[in-house]
Amino acid sequence: MSTDNNHPGSPSAKHFDILVIGGGNAALCAAMTARESGMDVLVLESAPKEFRGGNSRHTRNLRYLHEKENKYLTGPYPENEFWDDLMRVTKGKTNEELARFIIRESNDIGTWMEKHGCRFQPAMRGTLHLARTNAFFLGGGKALMNAYYAFAQHLGIKIEYDSEVVDLDIQYGRFLSANVKQQGGIRKIHAKSVIVASGGFQANLAWLKEYWGDSADNFIVRGTPYDKGKVLKVLLDNGVKSVGDPKQCHAVAIDARAPKFDGGIVTRLDCVAFGIVVNNQATRFYDEGEDFWPKRYAIWGRLVADQPDQIAYSIIDSKSIDLFMPSVFPPVEADSIEEMAEKLDLDSNGLNETINKFNKACKPGSFDPGELDDCKALDIDPVKSHWARPLDTPPFYGYPLKPGITFTYLGVEVNKKAGIIMENNQVAKNMFAAGEIMSGNILGQGYMAGFGMTIGTVFGRTAGKEAARYVSKLPE
Ligand SMILES: Cc1cc2nc3c(=O)[nH]c(=O)nc-3n(C[C@H](O)[C@H](O)[C@H](O)COP(=O)(O)OP(=O)(O)OC[C@H]3O[C@@H](n4cnc5c(N)ncnc54)[C@H](O)[C@@H]3O)c2cc1C
Repeated sequence: MSTDNNHPGSPSAKHFDILVIGGGNAALCAAMTARESGMDVLVLESAPKEFRGGNSRHTRNLRYLHEKENKYLTGPYPENEFWDDLMRVTKGKTNEELARFIIRESNDIGTWMEKHGCRFQPAMRGTLHLARTNAFFLGGGKALMNAYYAFAQHLGIKIEYDSEVVDLDIQYGRFLSANVKQQGGIRKIHAKSVIVASGGFQANLAWLKEYWGDSADNFIVRGTPYDKGKVLKVLLDNGVKSVGDPKQCHAVAIDARAPKFDGGIVTRLDCVAFGIVVNNQATRFYDEGEDFWPKRYAIWGRLVADQPDQIAYSIIDSKSIDLFMPSVFPPVEADSIEEMAEKLDLDSNGLNETINKFNKACKPGSFDPGELDDCKALDIDPVKSHWARPLDTPPFYGYPLKPGITFTYLGVEVNKKAGIIMENNQVAKNMFAAGEIMSGNILGQGYMAGFGMTIGTVFGRTAGKEAARYVSKLPE
């Protein structure tokens, strides 16, 4: 176990004001806020120091409400538009009170983030058309997390790494202590209040299999291997009310050659809309050009998960190779469809037939990757609604796709004060939650880019504030 910032006295005997479980964005936002309210705060991060920061260290941006453009955002993003975007992606499956709270509380959170060490980068190209709504972290999520850790340390927050919380003592809806695995042993830690920010359970393949069956074996976990949902399970086993469908998650199509865990953003493939996608039967199965990619990328993980062996192939031709951000793996290149079929291990006749049919169905139009253009393939099933151009200009390029799970939505129910709700609908007095572990309150389904960090930042700050308020009212 390594620690930052040692407090005097024996750590095992110490009773902290607030224990924060987790070491990602939500945890640190909570910890910094609580500490700035005068609390004695301990953060337990299950990862070793060099892998601290959970999924948050993989992020690039967040969206927040703003009435006018600023240095990092090219125009306003008002509440109604933010709300409409959320309604569209969740198809109304959201808790309106909490969702509107997040949206309003996100008003100019960039300023708070900058005060705590975050640096944003000026708006730029290659950002999935997000320059108006989403601010991008200079140096990405890793730099953001490093800045937050430095700030937390400077504030005097105690941080312990290699510290996995494995159990909680909860009596009658009140948190008493946590058992944490450290250096091969179990240590009990007491605190007056706990903030749980330990992410989803997407890195727990056995748990995923309970809902997805054997397909889960073929999932790739895009982020941290440390989000195993251990604390979530303990909470649910101790009478905390769950929220969200266990099968709902954020899952994108990523390069099948990505590592099983922690591959991060560079394994995502953004070429789907510019070509066709076939399964291992060489058959198309969904409209690749249904909408702009940022509005559709998060459904493709599930689409691929539903295909035989959970594998698919995105195929484009040379007309499209420069239209998207390249991923870390080079494409499979071929001068003919037959050669591509051989290289991707697909039936050559089948692939030829699929591509010929698709090419014939493409109607002439004005191709425009920046618009929902009129290049359509309509007399075919499935149709391709936009950016449909015949695959006829070698070389052809192919990428194998697998479902890449980002985070799960099953979580704990909370109220507007980040207070955890028990099965009997009572609010637990000294237990709070923030981040992925409560995102299912707002994300009943679907996702919009940059919203995970908004949820974690707003609810992290709220949890920190409310936990501090609770502790400060306790008798001496
Ligand atoms: C590749 C990738 C790119 C992404 N890009 C973006 C983006 O650009 N914008 C955006 O908004 N969202 C993005 N997301 C989603 C985003 O990462 C999450 O929504 C957000 O980071 C959640 O923050 P969190 O603090 O709740 O969880 P995490 O950052 O995952 O933190 C959870 C923490 O809990 C710790 N932990 C887990 N179990 C225990 C335990 N038992 N005891 C102690 N500690 C424990 C983990 O080690 C980790 O530190 C991306 C995700 C991935 C994987």
